Amino acid sequence: MDEIELKAHGKINLSLDVLSRREDGYHNVKMIMQSVALHDTVFLKKEEERGIRLSCNLASLPTDEGNLMVRAAKLMQEEFSIPDGIGMRLHKRLPVAAGMAGGSSDAAAVFLGLNQLFHLGLSVSELEKRAVKLGADIPFCLHRGCFLSEGIGEKLQELPPLPPCHIILAKPAFSLSTKLIYENLHVDGIHKAEHPDVDRMIQELKKNNLEGICHLGGNILERVSLKLRPEIRELKNYFTEKGALLSLMSGSGPTVFAIFPKEEEAKCHAILEDLKNTALNNLLELSCITAPC
Ligand code: ATP
Repeated sequence: MDEIELKAHGKINLSLDVLSRREDGYHNVKMIMQSVALHDTVFLKKEEERGIRLSCNLASLPTDEGNLMVRAAKLMQEEFSIPDGIGMRLHKRLPVAAGMAGGSSDAAAVFLGLNQLFHLGLSVSELEKRAVKLGADIPFCLHRGCFLSEGIGEKLQELPPLPPCHIILAKPAFSLSTKLIYENLHVDGIHKAEHPDVDRMIQELKKNNLEGICHLGGNILERVSLKLRPEIRELKNYFTEKGALLSLMSGSGPTVFAIFPKEEEAKCHAILEDLKNTALNNLLELSCITAPC
């Protein structure tokens, strides 16, 4: 049977603020997320044999219910009493547990793809309501572009995209526990002035002003992550010294992204080469150049 192919894009957080901790342990966030060209590829097809099957090019990833794709497929199969089997293949390119919403984006591709494959006729906002049950970042991943995300991630507002630019991604080989980072944030004790100014960044996005946007970049979670892993600060400093307009940790890390003007493509390649010759390179699992999309 025909197989459909979907791109599952990664994201960076241009700004990430945490406003409060809720009774249920979740946090109210206010963040600006931008999708990037780097993506996984998800293939989906109907199969005659009932059940859900997933294969992946990366042996370390779970292919059972530990994988968000399987959970998304199960949710849709049960709710819509889909009688057929579902066959899924994942070609992973996004770094795993990196703060780039790789798993969320793969799950979003499953929601979008099954809606298409089984002619379910759900609108994107209907998909969003189901997606948030599996993960706070999945509603955003149903879209492409730049969005303000509030609540636990379910309130989305589309924004003008980040102007064309080059984004260097550097993913350290270690991982950071999202849970541990949030537990150590103690958001009530943070002074107002230390929160990133998300509203002003929105104004700069509306002006299409790359420098102004970058100037306002911030991630409140760095308060915790830079103490836990000083190497993240070293990476950030490296890109700042190379003239990045913004050098910031994405999400709950540990990926650091660095933004350069679109005229500086050759410079970005030179920086990547230089990085490979530094001691920092031993720390990295991935370094590459991507773009907003
Ligand atoms: P976020 O930015 O939303 O916090 P992340 O980039 O930090 O996400 P993921 O790459 O989604 O993190 O992976 C987090 C964990 O989820 C991994 O330990 C992995 O085992 C599990 N996981 C489940 N499904 C997937 C998937 N499809 N791709 C990657 N990881 C997955």
